[in-house]
Order: sequence, then C-alpha cells, then structure tokens
Amino acid sequence: MTRYIDVADMQQLVAKHGADRMMAEMGDCIREDFLRWDAFDKSPRTANHSANGVIELMPVSDDALYAFKYVNGHPKNPLQGLTTVMAFGLLADVATGYPTMLSELTITTALRTAATSVVAAKALARPESRVMALIGNGSQSEFQAIAFMTQLGITTLRVFDVDSRATDKMVANLRFWTDSGALTVVRCASTREAVQGADIVTTVTADKTNATILTADMIAPGMHINAVGGDCPGKTELQAAILNSAKVFVEFEPQTRIEGELQQMPQDFVTHALWQVLAGTIAGRDNASQVTLFDSVGFALEDLSALRYVHALSQKLGIGSTLDLVPTLDDPKNLFGCAMAAGPHLRRAA
Ligand code: NAD
Repeated sequence: MTRYIDVADMQQLVAKHGADRMMAEMGDCIREDFLRWDAFDKSPRTANHSANGVIELMPVSDDALYAFKYVNGHPKNPLQGLTTVMAFGLLADVATGYPTMLSELTITTALRTAATSVVAAKALARPESRVMALIGNGSQSEFQAIAFMTQLGITTLRVFDVDSRATDKMVANLRFWTDSGALTVVRCASTREAVQGADIVTTVTADKTNATILTADMIAPGMHINAVGGDCPGKTELQAAILNSAKVFVEFEPQTRIEGELQQMPQDFVTHALWQVLAGTIAGRDNASQVTLFDSVGFALEDLSALRYVHALSQKLGIGSTLDLVPTLDDPKNLFGCAMAAGPHLRRAA
C-alpha cells in the first residue's frame, strides 16, 4: 500500500505540528540533503510551456529514495479563482521502484520554498538582519514571512503588492504575530518605498514576463536579496545590473541558467553553489557591505527533502491514509489474474 497525504491531511499536519516548526525541520532536512550533494542523480526539470504558464516535472534520486514533483506556474490563474502554483508528488523506493507515498505538494511547496529561503539567508544574510521587504503578497508570502520571523529574527516586514487585496489578506493572516508584538508589518505604496531600510529583500511576485521589480538604485550595501519569483524562462524580477554588483548563489546551476535571474546573464557569469557554502568549502558573504543574492528557482532535491520529512511526520502523527496505487499480487507474474479479480470480463470474438 502506498501512503497518501491529501490536502486535508496536510492541514492536519500543519494544525498538529505548526507551520513554523515544519519549516524549521524541513530546512534541517534540506540542509542535510544539500550536504550529500554528490549522492544525488540531478537534472534540470522538464518544462512544458504554454501561452498562460508552464507545467514542470522535477525528478531526483539517490541510492535509496526517488522523488518527483508535478508543478505548474500560471500567473493569471487567480483571475479565475485558481492558485498560480499547484503541485503533487511521489516518493519511491529505489531498490524496488515501489511508490512509498503520494502527496499533495501545493502547501508543501510553500513550506519548502520558505524553508530553503531561510537555509540560504542564514548562510548569506548579515546575522543582525531584522527588517525584510516582502514584495509580492500572494500565496507564498505568509510562509516566507513566518519562516524569516521565527528562524532568522526578522521583526519588521515592509510589504508591497500591486494588488492591495493580496496585502490585506497577508496582513490578516499574520495578525496573530502582529497582535502579539512579535512582528510589525509596514504597508508601503511601492517597491521602492518597501526596500528602504531593509536588510533582506524577498521578491515573490508572479508575472509571465521579464519584470523589473527591483532596480540597482534600490539596493543598499549589505542587503541580502532572496529572489523567489523569477523561476521560469522569460520570467525574471531583477534588473541585470543587480546581478553584476552582487555575489550570486544558486541551487543547481544548470537549471538556474535556464530559469533564474541568471538567464539574463552571459554564460561565463560567475555563480556560487549554495550547497558548497553550507558545506563550508566556499565562502558565503565576504563582508558586511557586500550584496548577496539567492537566485532561487526551486530544485527537485528540496522536494525530496520535503517529501521524506512529510512521510516521517505523517507516520509519527498517524495522519494520512493508504492507496492501492499499484497491485499487490499473490503471484507476481499473474497480473492478468489481478485484472480479472472483480469478475468475469467481456470476451470478444477475434
Ligand atoms: P501568487 O499569484 O499567489 O502571488 C503573486 C503576487 O505577486 C500577486 O499577489 C501579485 O499581485 C503580485 N505581483 C505581481 N506583479 C507584481 C509587481 N510588479 N509588484 C508587486 N507585486 C506584484 O503567486 P505565488 O504562489 O505567491 O508565487 C509567486 C512566485 O513565486 C511565482 O512566480 C512562482 O512561480 C514563484 N515560486 C517560486 C518558488 C521557488 O522555489 N523559487 C516556489 C514557489 C513559487
């Protein structure tokens, strides 16, 4: 039987364990797996583009676990009442090919994306960072806000979205933390205003275009930029001049070259691998005034980490169900017998 985690199960996991704790623990799993970088069979994701968006498949494996995620990106979906990003995925046993768990990954993707952002920011941002600008207040935004607040010590968010209703929604969802005084949210009239005085700038906007959310003149010395929204060919958020003056860090360079802010840069533009910073083999930030940029696109390994975390947590908390996704046979060669198990089939004459 294959373990099955649907959206209601994920809501139970979040209710029982807490989104903040899940993002912290998922981050630990992501860090652990990034430190075993060479153990994984990695490839850029396969993307099918269309006029409104993209549908992608993201596989990865080591010698024990295989995972894939199906994920889309359709920035106009909210106009039809649908989310921009939706996902589901599978964890499988490499030794047998047996599917271990089928899971929702829409909520999980938001958790793992924020967890990854914090893993990177802990390694790259100035440790005294307390103020974060959050540009784009849609589906991913609260996850980013809570992860940075609880794990990095962010106490002030300066926020902007072209859709003020998105900001209303985010402000309402963060009320627990603002009411308790743990977090101050400052609503700003523009991106330029929001980034004023920020130690960290997170861009998590959705638009299927080469947008210029941040320009070089908005960037102050010492900022860390967590660029999350540019994750697809033809879809970027930053002016190229920002990359020229920053130290740029990537998840898996062959994929980031195609999908990240990096797609704007020549092939010989130098980047730095986040996993090597985590492993201590290369430096992160060189000094307090350097601008660091995490050109996040979302890599399959983060989903494998998230899936193995959800699998373990769901077993521990007894949440989820099982599915007959593949047949269980008394005689592994008698698939026909299994196909006929519900009763005699209609036989047609040749
Ligand atoms: P969403 O549609 O729910 O929210 C995006 C928000 O951006 C919207 O509220 C929109 O009004 C706002 N926006 C668009 N243009 C803007 C602009 N010029 N200035 C300010 N705000 C603007 O989408 P989401 O699920 O929150 O995802 C946001 C982006 O993050 C998408 O592009 C998605 O593909 C990307 N993403 C990346 C990763 C990763 O791992 N890097 C993971 C998940 C999502």
